[in-house]
Amino acid sequence: MLTEAEAREHVLSRIAPGRVEEIALNASLGRHAAIQLLATVPLPGFDNSQVDGYALRAHEAPVHTRLVVSAEQPAGTDRHLSLPPGQAVRIFTGAAIPEGADAVIMQEDVTAAGGAIVINDAVVQGENIRRTGSDLCRGQKLLRPGQKITPGVIGVLASQGITTVAVHRLPSVAVLSTGDELIPPGQPLQPGQLYNSNGPMITALLNSLGIVDTAVHHCPDHLEATIETLRSLAETHDAIIISGGVSVGDHDHIKPALQALGMPPELWRVKVKPGKPFVFVHRMEPRPLYVFGLPGNPVSSFVTYQLFVRAALLKLMGSADHGLPAVEAEVTEAMTNDGDRPHYLRGRYEDGRFSPLGVQASHALFGLSQSNAMLRLEPGSTVAAGARVTVHPF
Ligand code: AMP
Ligand code: MG
Repeated sequence: MLTEAEAREHVLSRIAPGRVEEIALNASLGRHAAIQLLATVPLPGFDNSQVDGYALRAHEAPVHTRLVVSAEQPAGTDRHLSLPPGQAVRIFTGAAIPEGADAVIMQEDVTAAGGAIVINDAVVQGENIRRTGSDLCRGQKLLRPGQKITPGVIGVLASQGITTVAVHRLPSVAVLSTGDELIPPGQPLQPGQLYNSNGPMITALLNSLGIVDTAVHHCPDHLEATIETLRSLAETHDAIIISGGVSVGDHDHIKPALQALGMPPELWRVKVKPGKPFVFVHRMEPRPLYVFGLPGNPVSSFVTYQLFVRAALLKLMGSADHGLPAVEAEVTEAMTNDGDRPHYLRGRYEDGRFSPLGVQASHALFGLSQSNAMLRLEPGSTVAAGARVTVHPF
């Protein structure tokens, strides 16, 4: 059985980032850059005033000095003013600093009357002047390949006059729930049935990564039906996330179905709890296809998604960062793992503290719904109450 790290490495080593496309900047939120961009417009683009006030020479403006206001420089057009000796120029936020001025005094710090001002507060050289390139120089790296496009990144790209950006394509992902016992929410339950909760949950996990081209499919525990469903999903998707049917029961048909389609699982069973029977297989021809088989129990599905599928999809989406998020926390109670696999306990991470929550069993969906982080407990280990640990928020 592979360790979790070996399994993740194997999966990631098989994933190639998706094709590159040029899209509108204002549709690029959450996507991942495919290229490096360098600044062409420095920020600020010219020396300008940080406040509404008066541009002057600091050494000419000790407190109580009276300065004649020679001209006015609004924002929007540079009047190319130059400051006469011993005078001031009325200036507004964002307006170009007149030639010769070396400071701007805020209008609140002067008394203005009759075309002149009296200085009420000391001014130092450079005060309230935003210098060209002091935030961003021409030629500076703006965007790295694999960087996530956030609102701030969109802002800085727009500041360069950019309207489109090269990103990796988002994958089309099919979610396949298997099991004769499953029915879609919205119908009356018959004895022995349960609602398909993994389908919507996995879809939501995909949506939270920004993947929206996704749909839930279902197939019964029947080999031929499984083969046909997988064959048709494989034609139109970049990835298929299956839940259930990956164990060795008489009704588990995923592995034989993949085998029948010429995709024998290249990875099956990982040393992790919950989630041991995780399956992965990929093919590159006629086009890349990645298949993830998650165990059916909802918590196992969720945890294996977090450990393996999330990283794989992020890499497919072109993200340079696909590590599991991790933060330091203090545990609020003692926890033990007497098993022989690392156990991911679900719980609540709040104010730097982590508390396990609900039933720690692979079917216990409610506890998961109240959790926002997981803690990896090594086999045969105990953590004491108050111990500092690393937890993984989700
Ligand atoms: P399996 O991995 O197919 O053996 O399923 C393990 C357990 O998870 C069974 O109790 C299933 O009923 C349950 N299960 C499988 N798929 C789903 C699903 N999509 N939603 C909720 N429970 C499921
Ligand atoms: Mg099943």
